[in-house]
Amino acid sequence: MTVGSMPWDRPAPERAGLPSAWSLFPEELAALGCPGSALETFRRLHRPWTWKDGAPDLGSGIRRWLEGVADLRLPRIVEQQPSADGATKLALDLADGKRIEAVHMPRKVRNPRVTYCLSSQVGCAMGCTFCATGSMGILRNLQPGEILGQVLAVMAELGPDRGHLLTLVFMGMGEPLHNLEHLHRAIRLMGHPAGLGIGMGRITVSTSGLVSGIEKLAKLEPRPMLALSLNATTDEARSRTMPVNRVWDLARLRQALDAWGLKRGEKLTFEYVLLAGENDTEADAERLAAWLGDLRRGHNLNLIPMNEHDASSFRQPGEARVQAFSDWLKARGCFVTVRRSRGRDVQGACGQLVKGKDLHERRISHG
Ligand code: SAH
Ligand code: SF4
Repeated sequence: MTVGSMPWDRPAPERAGLPSAWSLFPEELAALGCPGSALETFRRLHRPWTWKDGAPDLGSGIRRWLEGVADLRLPRIVEQQPSADGATKLALDLADGKRIEAVHMPRKVRNPRVTYCLSSQVGCAMGCTFCATGSMGILRNLQPGEILGQVLAVMAELGPDRGHLLTLVFMGMGEPLHNLEHLHRAIRLMGHPAGLGIGMGRITVSTSGLVSGIEKLAKLEPRPMLALSLNATTDEARSRTMPVNRVWDLARLRQALDAWGLKRGEKLTFEYVLLAGENDTEADAERLAAWLGDLRRGHNLNLIPMNEHDASSFRQPGEARVQAFSDWLKARGCFVTVRRSRGRDVQGACGQLVKGKDLHERRISHG
């Protein structure tokens, strides 16, 4: 880093390309010359329940030092849309003005646990035809400090007030395995015992089937839970709605999941978006169960009726068909949950995360 030795020699953080304060491990804070305990500084940064007035309580000496070597800005919550089901959709602005979204989903009444649905990229490059995020294309990857900062900003605003009450799912904007290096650093920071201390059993990374990423993540430590968005049961249909399938087809994907090798206490999750008239027949259920094969022993299968939005003409099947599809799978040994997406009334549900403005601009640019 080419910064001067005296504070007044240093360029302002926002112009200096400094690392995010939230992307640094205690030993890295120490290596940068932390004038106090690096572990204690890390603890104060990463535990929003100890913050004062929405910011870490660092003490003026440490704060001054840190401002010289790191960027202390967090994603800024610019919009909150509470939904009738208790979920809140949040829009967060990053330092460069780009916007991401997260959803805060408390469990039932009297249960302090909260699930966050998080973004890993601004937009997404995968182009799935049923997905609103896919329709906006990719703008950029999130940095590790932004991925983690998203959690800290939402936590400081809406709780819960302890890390062990959090469950995190990377099912917001983006293909997490397309940004694996940054994602993994963020996950390691989230698991640090002096920070949020979130166990890997409570972090789920959902992928559209980026096999190269699945194979890399399989070997990383620590390793979060994996969810796979299947969404079709023939290569022809899957390649039509999910372009990633043209590179890694169903057989190749199945091979990658075999190689994943479930450890004790791990489960694979499968997501299947039900699209009326596209992937919701009994023959689809039959093929889906056959494709899962012996993976049926340790899995959850989430059926998600299509959340309709303006960027796609797919519709959700009627209630009776959703129920029938679930029954067909159960009869074939699958553990099925129908996921009524939360936050539907505020467009915060799966596949609906897109800025209205971007969508509008895109349509204009497409004539
Ligand atoms: N990119 C990752 C994670 C984000 S998408 C992935 O694709 O897995 C999270 C989930 O939302 C995926 O299972 C995806 O299939 C689903 N999804 C996308 N668009 C949807 C829509 N319109 N309705 C319901 N679910 C949708
Ligand atoms: Fe990207 Fe997932 Fe949407 Fe596909 S479903 S476009 S991978 S966010």
